[in-house]
Amino acid sequence: MNPEICIVCDGEIFEPAGTHSGYSLFHCLQCGLRFTHPIPGAAEIAAIYTEYGTNRSYAAKAERKIRRSMKRIRRYMNRGPGKRFLDVGCNVGTAVEAARRLGLDAHGIDIGDQSIEIAREMFPGGHFHAGPIESLPPEWGQFDFVYSAEVIEHLPDANAYFNALSLRIKPGGLLFLTTPDAGHWRVPSEFTKWDQVFPPHHLLYFTKDAMRRFLDRHGLEVVKFEWKLKPGLHAIARRR
Ligand SMILES: [Zn+2]
Repeated sequence: MNPEICIVCDGEIFEPAGTHSGYSLFHCLQCGLRFTHPIPGAAEIAAIYTEYGTNRSYAAKAERKIRRSMKRIRRYMNRGPGKRFLDVGCNVGTAVEAARRLGLDAHGIDIGDQSIEIAREMFPGGHFHAGPIESLPPEWGQFDFVYSAEVIEHLPDANAYFNALSLRIKPGGLLFLTTPDAGHWRVPSEFTKWDQVFPPHHLLYFTKDAMRRFLDRHGLEVVKFEWKLKPGLHAIARRR
């Protein structure tokens, strides 16, 4: 069954982009998005995340990850209107800890209960919440700097996620988002040979054009894309 409409650009013209692990991929010819279609059901997706990214060996690498995040956050932290930081998909909280060390009021949310438990244990200076973005406590309000690293490619409904997420960014506030870059010159011409193609974990594969359009439809304007030697898309965007 062919897709009907592109979730990013409302385009209706697609070409097949191969199959991987039994999943079919399509390519939107208007914006360049590649995506798994049909999107696997909620139960199928929940099953693969029962132990995803929540093991304690992750914690051992924490210090290196904190330093890397500090470098990233320091580049942009003063371009937002204030000091409230939120990492959406924070895992065990290393970027939250990085933000806290830089003097930001640091918050993190993750769907993994176990990750949040580890985060609270390791980084008591941060504020953590377990659950989807829609469940973020209302009293947490809006943020000046929202971080979303390697999350969007996993989502069965990226528009629902961004409907909730963009409301949590203050007007004038910044979003720092990373995801694999399907338009990068190092991506193999036979798309499914790319090592980032592994459905059902990765469902969406953005190009810069697709990301610009996607953020625009959620009220965010791209400030810049960082230049990357490897096929990673790092976008900085500002909420209108
Ligand atoms: Zn499209």
